[in-house]
Formats: sequence, C-alpha cells, structure tokens
Amino acid sequence: MDLGISGKVALIAAASKGIGFATAKLLADEGCKVSICGRAESILRSAAEKISPDCHWQVCDVSNLESIEHWIQAAKSELGEPHILITNTGGPPVGPVMEISDEQWQTGIDSTLLNIVRMVRLVAPSMAESGWGRIVHITSLVAREPNDLLPISSTIRSGIEALTKVQSNALAKHGVTVNTVQPGYTLTDRQTHLCSIRAEQNGTSLEQEIEKQANIIPVGRM
Ligand code: NAD
Repeated sequence: MDLGISGKVALIAAASKGIGFATAKLLADEGCKVSICGRAESILRSAAEKISPDCHWQVCDVSNLESIEHWIQAAKSELGEPHILITNTGGPPVGPVMEISDEQWQTGIDSTLLNIVRMVRLVAPSMAESGWGRIVHITSLVAREPNDLLPISSTIRSGIEALTKVQSNALAKHGVTVNTVQPGYTLTDRQTHLCSIRAEQNGTSLEQEIEKQANIIPVGRM
C-alpha cells in the first residue's frame, strides 16, 4: 500500500507492544521517519529494532508531562518537526465501578486523557504552521459500547470523542486532521490481561474467555 506519506515524521506513543507497535511498524513500512516511546528501555529498544533500523525511541511515561515533553523534543531534534501523531496509550485501570478508587480514576485521567491533551498542544502548532498534519487518537470500542469491566475507559473514551471534534474544529483550517480509531477486540497483552480477570471472575479458563471474546466478533476471531 502507498499512502503517500513517505518521508513524513511520525510519532507513535506507547509503541513497544500491541496496537502501538503494529502502527509504528506499518508507518515505517510506508517510509515514514518514526519515533516511538514506552516506559521500559529494554523492551522499547528491541521494538525499535524490529520496526526499522532508523527508528528513534525515547523512554517516556505518557501520563507525565515532563516525560512527554522530553520525548517530543528528542524526536524533533533527531527527525525534525512531526507531521503525524498517534496518541496510543496503555489501557487505564479496570474493575467494577463501585470498587474503583479516586487514585485509579486519576491514573486513568493522566494516562488516557491528559496525555492526548498535552501531546496535541505540543505537536499541533508546528503542524498548523506547515499546513499539514495528521493526528489519530487510539481509543476503544467502549466509547460507543460502555463495558462493565472498563468504567474508566468507557467514560474517558466517550469524552475523547468530543475532545477530538473540538480539536479538529480548531485545526482543520490549517490542514491538520484529528480523528479517533476505536479498536475492537485485538489479541494483545492488554486483551489477555482482561480475559484473565474475566476467567477469575467467572471461574473459567483464560482460553475459554479468549474464545468467548472472539465469538462476539462475527468472523469468530480477534
Ligand atoms: P498493550 O497492553 O498490548 O500495549 C500497550 C503499550 O503501551 C505497551 O507497549 C505498554 O508498555 C505501553 N504503555 C502502557 N502505559 C504506558 C505509559 N503510561 N507510558 C508509555 N507507554 C505505556 O495494549 P493494546 O492492546 O495494544 O492497547 C492499546 C490501546 O488500545 C489501549 O489504550 C487500549 O485500551 C486500547 N484498546 C485495546 C483493545 C484490545 O482488544 N487490545 C480494544 C480496545 C481498545
């Protein structure tokens, strides 16, 4: 596939594994100059090697402003001003709504909402100045179908729909688009973790819960 983005600078957050990693690999295969971030240096380094020989990486916790600033500054110095931003992140804390603490809500807000607000604030001005930019927030299908195991994700992700609209209203006239992708069930570490919680709750095995999730999808696989 040629998306016509060869040579563009692409920043992909939380990309040492899962959907972020797959996105970074795809953008590198399209010829983008890619920078990824994640929290664990050894996993991040080995992910960068698999993405492309030139993949830039920087340790960064996306729930921390200084950490985000550091990654974006390092990527700009190495690759130039970003054209594409993918605001992937890890899934927020999970559990029944009546049992979730204020600390867990705050963790979710820092890592799932403020990360997006901050990254866009840091990256969008130079995109707007250049007249071209693409920003994609990876959120979740729970934005449309709230899930009892995922109250924080369901609440924040539906709010991000409104945030995306407001951000795109501000940036569209400068050639910068802002969109969300709401993944369905995808067999990553996060999905395995969620299935293991359901297995414990339901007294079933992990394999049974993975099969149940897959069977919700019309094609019968994640
Ligand atoms: P994953 O757990 O497989 O990978 C998440 C990646 O994010 C890992 O590399 C992890 O190290 C990194 N990460 C986590 N917290 C971070 C932080 N604070 N700072 C920097 N890096 C961090 O998850 P995934 O399945 O690829 O999910 C990615 C996103 O998609 C999540 O936000 C998740 O809620 C959402 N999602 C996933 C599914 C699914 O079925 N897998 C479905 C809907 C939505």
